[in-house]
Amino acid sequence: MSKHYLAARCMLALAVAGCAGAQHQENSNVTTAVAASAANPLLQPWTGPYGGVPGFAGVRVEHFEPGLEAAMAQARQEIEAIAASSEPATFENTIAAFEASGRTLRRALAVFGVWESTLNGPEFQVVERTMAPKLAAFDDEIAQNERLFRRVAAVYEAADESRWDPEQQRLTWYRYTQLVRAGAQARPADKARIAEINQRLASLYTAFSQNVLSDEETYTVVLHTPAELEGLPDSVRAGAAAAAAEGKLPGKWLITNTRSSVEPFLTFSARRDLREKVWKNFVNRGDNGDAHDNNAIITEVLQLRAERARLLGYPTHAHWRLQDSMAKTPEATLQLMEAVWKPAAARVHEEVADMQALADKEREANGAGKAIVIAPWDYRYYAEKVRKAKYDLDENEIKPYLQLDQLREALFWVAGELFGFEFSPATGLPVYHPDVAVWEVKDKASGKHIGLWYFDPYARQGKRSGAWMSDYRNQERFRGEVSAIVSNNSNFVKPGPGEPTLLSWDDAITMFHEFGHALHGLSSNVTYPSLSGTSVPPDYVEFPSQLLERWLSTPEVLTRFALHYQTGRPIPGELVAKIERASRFNQGFATVEYLSTALVDMKLHLAGATRIDPDTFERQTLLELHMPEQLVMRHRTPQLSHVFAGDQYSAGYYSYLWADTLTADAYEAFTEGSGPYDHAVAARLSKYVFQAGNTVDPATAYRAFRGKDPGIAALMRKRGFPVPAGAR
Ligand SMILES: [Zn+2]
Repeated sequence: MSKHYLAARCMLALAVAGCAGAQHQENSNVTTAVAASAANPLLQPWTGPYGGVPGFAGVRVEHFEPGLEAAMAQARQEIEAIAASSEPATFENTIAAFEASGRTLRRALAVFGVWESTLNGPEFQVVERTMAPKLAAFDDEIAQNERLFRRVAAVYEAADESRWDPEQQRLTWYRYTQLVRAGAQARPADKARIAEINQRLASLYTAFSQNVLSDEETYTVVLHTPAELEGLPDSVRAGAAAAAAEGKLPGKWLITNTRSSVEPFLTFSARRDLREKVWKNFVNRGDNGDAHDNNAIITEVLQLRAERARLLGYPTHAHWRLQDSMAKTPEATLQLMEAVWKPAAARVHEEVADMQALADKEREANGAGKAIVIAPWDYRYYAEKVRKAKYDLDENEIKPYLQLDQLREALFWVAGELFGFEFSPATGLPVYHPDVAVWEVKDKASGKHIGLWYFDPYARQGKRSGAWMSDYRNQERFRGEVSAIVSNNSNFVKPGPGEPTLLSWDDAITMFHEFGHALHGLSSNVTYPSLSGTSVPPDYVEFPSQLLERWLSTPEVLTRFALHYQTGRPIPGELVAKIERASRFNQGFATVEYLSTALVDMKLHLAGATRIDPDTFERQTLLELHMPEQLVMRHRTPQLSHVFAGDQYSAGYYSYLWADTLTADAYEAFTEGSGPYDHAVAARLSKYVFQAGNTVDPATAYRAFRGKDPGIAALMRKRGFPVPAGAR
C-alpha cells in the first residue's frame, strides 16, 4: 500500500521549474556559467547511447555545491532572457521557452537526488544542508519574478484555443497556476516572507530526514546467543548475521532499525521481550529526546506551513495542498477516510479476538505460564500464527518461490503482456554503485527504443529505507524526441555469494508497485516534459502503481515465475489457492495502521495556526478516533518522512487510499472483461492513464478509461469490508 516514496528528486521543491529531467541541450547563448566549471561532471550534457545516459561517472561529493550553483546561475540567465524580452508574450517565446529552461539544473538535480537517497553519508549531508535552502530560494526567485509572471499571465489570459492544441493549453494553464500557487500574486512584503519560510522549511525537511536516518542506523538490537534467535527463519537469521558482519560484529546477529529488518523479526521472533525492544526502537525513531529528536522540527514546520497558507490566501495548509489534487478539498478526503475507518477498526477487533484466543490456547497447552494480552509488538507474530491456523498458510512456505531475479523477469513479462514492452540488459553504462543494473526497454512490435530502467535492489549504509521510483529523465518530444529514464530502488537484504534473494509476499507486492510507477514513466507519450509520465497529482500518481500490484497474484505470473529456488518447480496450485483465500486476511490491521497515519496527517494540517505538540496531538487524535490499542500508526509523526521530509505528501498521505479506490474500480474493468490480460482493457489503460501524464485532468482521464466515475464499492469488496447501502 505505501512502502515507498515517489521520485526522490521530486522531493526537492522545484515546483516551478518542474520535475522533469532531460538531456536535450538547448540552443542557448548562456554558456558562461557552464564554461567556468567545465570540469564539473554535473554540468556536462548526458552523453552516450539512448540520447545520453545519466552522467554518474566521476561524480564526487565536492562537485555538488559548485555544480548546482553554476546550474542555477545558468537557469537564472535563461529565465531572465524570457522575462526581459521586449517582444509581445506568445506561447512560443514565453511558455515554451520557460519549459525549455533549466535543463542543466534538472540533470544535476537528478544526480543529486541519487546521492541524497542512496549514497547519503556525513560528507554529503553537509552539502545537503547547505543546498536545500538555496534550491528553495531559487524556486521562489522564479515564482516571484514579476516580469516573468506578467508574461505568463498575458499568454494564459489570451489563451487561443483555436490555434493551440490541447496539450499547449494544458501546459499554459499548468505553468500559470503553479506560479500563482507559489505566490506570484502575493503582496511584495508577503512574498519576502514566503521565500523566508520556504528556505527555513527546506532546512527543516533535511534535518528531519537526516534524524530519521540516524535513528535507523543507531538504535539497533544486537543478538548474542542462538537462544535469542528462537522462531526466526533461516533467511532472517542469515540477513541478521550479514548485517552484524557488516557492522563489525562477527558471530553476532544485528537487527537494524529499518522496516525491512524489523517487520520480519516482529513476525517470527518467539522472544516477546526482544520483540518489544525492537518494536520500541522502531516506533520511537525521531522521538528519543536526544540530538536527533524531530518533535521541535514538526512544531515549527506546521507553524510555517500554516503561515504560508494564510499568506497564499488559503484557510489551512491542507486546503492549499489539496487545491490542485484530484480530491480538491480536505473534506472529500475525510469523507472517504471516515467511510473506511469504522469497518476497518471493527475488523481489527475481530482479528485481535482471534489472536487472543490463540495466545490463550497456547498458554493452556504449555501448562499455563504467564497470560499474554495482545500488545502492539505481538500483532504481527500472532497474526502470522492465526493465518497459519485459519488458512494453513505459512509465510515461510511462500518465500522459497519468490526469488528476486525471477520476479524481475515476471515484471518484464507483465509489461510485455499489458503494454507491449520488451526488456533487455543494457551493459556498459555508468552506474553509481556496483549493485545497480540497467535494462533497455523497447516496443515489442516495432523494436522502437522506449527508455531505460535502472534497478538498485539492495540495502546498504547511507541508503534511505523503503522502496521508491525515481525519474532521471522525463519522456518528451518538445524539441526533439527524448526517451524516459527511470529507476526502481528497494532495500532487500543482499544474499551471500551464489545465494538467491528470497522475498516475502509483501516485498513482492512492493516490487510490482514500484514497477507500476516505472511503467507510468516509461509509457509516457506527451510533448512537454512538465506534463510527462508521473508528473501528476499525488493522489493520482499512486493509481498506476497500486493497480500493477494486482498482477503478482495472477496464475499466469505465479506458474511461470514463482519457482522454487532449489527445485525450480513452480509454486503448487494448492498454495496459490491458499494465498488467494487468505488475501483479505489482516486487512483490519493494514487499513487501520495506514488510515490512522493519513488521518493524523490531514488533521495536523487542518489545525491552522495552533501551536502543536506532536506527541499530544497524535495521542489526542488517536483517542478521538478510538484507535485500537493493539497497533500503532504505520509511520508515527516523528518519523513520518512522507510528510515532514518534504512538502510532496504533506496533507497527502490519504493519497494511497484515494488511489486505491481508483485501483479497485479499475481492476474490475479487467475482471468484467476477459480477465487481467484482456488486451482491449489494457490498451485503454495504456492510452488514457499510463501514456497521458498530466496532459489531461485525472478525473477526465479516468472516465475515458473506465466509462464511468469510480465509486467506493469495489474498494470495500477488495478489502473484504461490507459495502455501504447505496454505494456504487
Ligand atoms: Zn507509490
